[in-house]
Amino acid sequence: MRITVVGFPRIGRNREWKKALEEYWAKHISQEEFFTQAYALQKQHLAMMSSLDEIPLDFALYDHMLETCFLLGVIPESVSSLPLSSLDKYFALARGFQSDTMDIKAWPMKKWFFTNYHYVVPKLTPEICWKPDLSFLSQKIQLASEEKRPTRITLVGPYTFYKLSRRENLSETLLRERLLAAYQKLLDSYATLLWQLDEPALVMDMNAHEKEVFSFFYQQLAPSYGKSLHLQTYFGDIRDIYQEVISLPIHSIGLDFVDGKQNLSLLEQYGFPADKILYAGILSGRNIWKSDMTTLSRLLNSLCRYTKPENIMVSTSCSLLHVPYTLEGETLPTTGGNHFSFALEKIEELKQIASQYNTQSPSEYLQTHASSPSSSLSPELQKAIESLGDNAFNRRLPVEERLPLQKQLLKLPLFPTTTIGSFPQTRELRKIRKAYQEGNLSHKEYEEHLRHMIRECITRQEEIGLDVLVHGEYERNDMVEYFAHFLSGFWTTKNGWVQSYGSRATKPPIIYGNIKRLKAMTVPWITYAQSLTKKPMKAILTGPITIINWSFCREDISLREIAYQIALALREEIDELQKESIPIIQVDEAALREKLPLRKKDWKEYLEIATSAFRLATSGIKPEVQLHTHMCYSEFSEIADAIEAMDADVLTIEASRSDLDVIESLRTYSQKRDIGPGVYDIHSPRIPSEEEISTTIQKLLTVIPAEHLWINPDCGLKTRQEHEAYESLSHMVKAAQKLRSTLP
Ligand code: GLN
Ligand code: ZN
Repeated sequence: MRITVVGFPRIGRNREWKKALEEYWAKHISQEEFFTQAYALQKQHLAMMSSLDEIPLDFALYDHMLETCFLLGVIPESVSSLPLSSLDKYFALARGFQSDTMDIKAWPMKKWFFTNYHYVVPKLTPEICWKPDLSFLSQKIQLASEEKRPTRITLVGPYTFYKLSRRENLSETLLRERLLAAYQKLLDSYATLLWQLDEPALVMDMNAHEKEVFSFFYQQLAPSYGKSLHLQTYFGDIRDIYQEVISLPIHSIGLDFVDGKQNLSLLEQYGFPADKILYAGILSGRNIWKSDMTTLSRLLNSLCRYTKPENIMVSTSCSLLHVPYTLEGETLPTTGGNHFSFALEKIEELKQIASQYNTQSPSEYLQTHASSPSSSLSPELQKAIESLGDNAFNRRLPVEERLPLQKQLLKLPLFPTTTIGSFPQTRELRKIRKAYQEGNLSHKEYEEHLRHMIRECITRQEEIGLDVLVHGEYERNDMVEYFAHFLSGFWTTKNGWVQSYGSRATKPPIIYGNIKRLKAMTVPWITYAQSLTKKPMKAILTGPITIINWSFCREDISLREIAYQIALALREEIDELQKESIPIIQVDEAALREKLPLRKKDWKEYLEIATSAFRLATSGIKPEVQLHTHMCYSEFSEIADAIEAMDADVLTIEASRSDLDVIESLRTYSQKRDIGPGVYDIHSPRIPSEEEISTTIQKLLTVIPAEHLWINPDCGLKTRQEHEAYESLSHMVKAAQKLRSTLP
C-alpha cells in the first residue's frame, strides 16, 4: 500500500511565504529573489514529504484558483495588456493595481467551501483573453524533473472552476467551449505529467444540468488524456455522480472517507473499477486529531473488499492546507495533550498505517496513540445541559414588548448611530501588545495603556456624536483566540498558523476539553468604559458558533454539546455584564453562515443547533436590556428564518453594497425588529461622503420602517487607519442627524 497527501500547507513553517510576499510587494526584494524563495520553499516542502510515495506539487504563489486561471488563460484583456510582468499581472488580479493611467480592481474573494481559506473568484466576461501564461508552471516542471519520486501537479478541475467562477455577459455555451479548449490546450502541452484535477464541487448537491456540465467536460477530456488524469474529490461524498465518475477512462480517483459519509456505501453498491487507483482519503486533512488506528485499519480492510491493496493509495481526506505545519516546538496542554496531529505528524501517521499494513504486524504505535481528545463530556456539564428546560432558550417577553421598554430606557433618537465594536488597532497598540507578550511590559502597565486607549476612544465617539458607544476592543487581538484564553478546554498554539488567503494566516485555537468560563472575559473593560460616559455602552462578545467555526473542534462529543458549553460560559459573562448595568449586549455571529453544510439537506440541523446555542447564551438577558447581534454578510434570504429565530432585538449586517435585492430581503425582519444594514464599506480605505451615506440611508428607508432603522458601518473598524475611521464615522453621524432634522 502506498501513501500520499492531497495537498500541503503553503504559508511556510514560520510563515516565510508571508514575509516573501510582503517583501516583494514593498519592493524590498526583486522578482528574481522572490522566485528563488518560492523555489526554496517548495524544496523544503518536498523534503517534509519525503516519506510519501507520490508527491503533490500544489504550491501557489497567492492562490490556487488564480494560478489555474493563468494556466488556462482566464485573464482579462485589460490586465493581460498591462506593461507588467506575468507575476505583477497575477498580483493585479489578486490585490488590485493602480497607476496614473490604470485602475484595476482586484477580483473578489470567497471562502473555499466550508473552510476558512479564501480563493480568488474569477470573473468570466467577454473580456477574457484566453491566452495561457505557462510561466506559472515552470518551477513545478523543474521540481518534478529533479524529484526522484513520482509527482502530480494539481489544478482546479473544470467542473469546480465552472461552478465557482462568476459569469458576466458570457453565454453558457461559449463559456463551456472556451473552458474545455483551455484545459485541452494545457493538457496537450504536458501530456506526460500526472495531473490532479481537484473537483470538490462534486460533493455538493448536483441537479440534472450540473451533471450534464460535468459530463460535457469529462466525456471529452478523459478519452484523450485519461492516463494522465487523477480526479480528486474532497469535503464530502459524491453520491450524485459516483457511477459516472468511476466509468471514466482515467488513471485514478480520490475519495474522501472522512467527510464523505456515503462514499464507502457507494463503493459497496457500485464497486470500484479494477483498472484504476483509489486514492483513499482516510485521514482527516482539515482537523488536527491523531487518527484512531483501529478505526483506520478497519476502514482499510473494508476498502480492500472492493479493490486490491496495491491499487490503493492511502491519503488524506483533503489538502493539509487547512492545518498547521507541526507540533514541534509547541507546549502541549498538561492534560490530554497527546492527541494532536498537524501536517507533519499526519504524514508520520500515514507512514505508520502503511508500514503496519504492509508488514501485517500491529505496530506499537497502535497501542500508544489512542484517538481524539482527552476527556469525554464532563458529567457535571452534561447534567447542566440535560437539565436545560425551554426557559433556558427563551427570553421573558416577546420582541414586540421588549423593544418599547428598551427604547424608553435608552432614550435614543430616531436612526440611532453606532459601530460594530472594534476601533483601529494602531501600530502603537501592536507594539504595546508585543512588549507585553515578550515580558517587557508589566500586566499593570499593559492594562493602563489599554485604559488610556479606551478613554481616548470614548472621547472621540462623544465628539463625533455617536449615540451608542463601544469600548473599542483594544484588548483583543482577534475575535476568538482572545476568548479562548478565558475558557477551559481550549488550547492555543505558538505557531499553529493556517493560511487564510495570500499572505494572511490565522492561528485557530483548539477545543480539546470541556469548556467552562474561568474568569470574566470582558466585564472589567466594558464597565470601565461605561464609567466614563453617560451614553449607553454596548458590550461585545463573540457568539458560540463563530467561536466554534474559527477553532479546531473536538469530535468525540457532538457539535450541539460543544456549542451549549460555550453558550453557558457566555451566559455567565452576560449575567455579570447585566449586574454591572450595561444596557446593551451584542453577541457577534460573524461566521454563522459560512459553515453551512455543503448539502442543503443538512442545513436544518446545523441552523437549529446554531440558533439554539445563541438563544441559550442570550435568553437570560432582561427584557429591558437590548440584545444586538452582528453578521458579516447580507446574503440573508436563504437563512432568514434562522436569523429570526435567534430572537435578537437589533441586527447589524454587512450591506454596504446595498443593491435593492439585499435591502428587499430585510423587509420582513424589519417589521418587528430593529436593523442596521451597514451604510458604508469598512474594508476599503475610501472615506465616504455625507451625501453618499445619505443616499444609502434613503434607499434603506424605501423598505425599512424609520423607527426600526439603525445607522452603522458594515463591520468592525479594526483594520482601518484612525483618521479613516473617525472621518467616515463623522460623515455617517452627520447624515443621520440631518435626516432626523428633516423629518416632521
Ligand atoms: N465586533 C467585531 C468587530 O467589530 C466584529 C468583527 C466581525 O464581524 N468580523 O471587529
Ligand atoms: Zn462583521
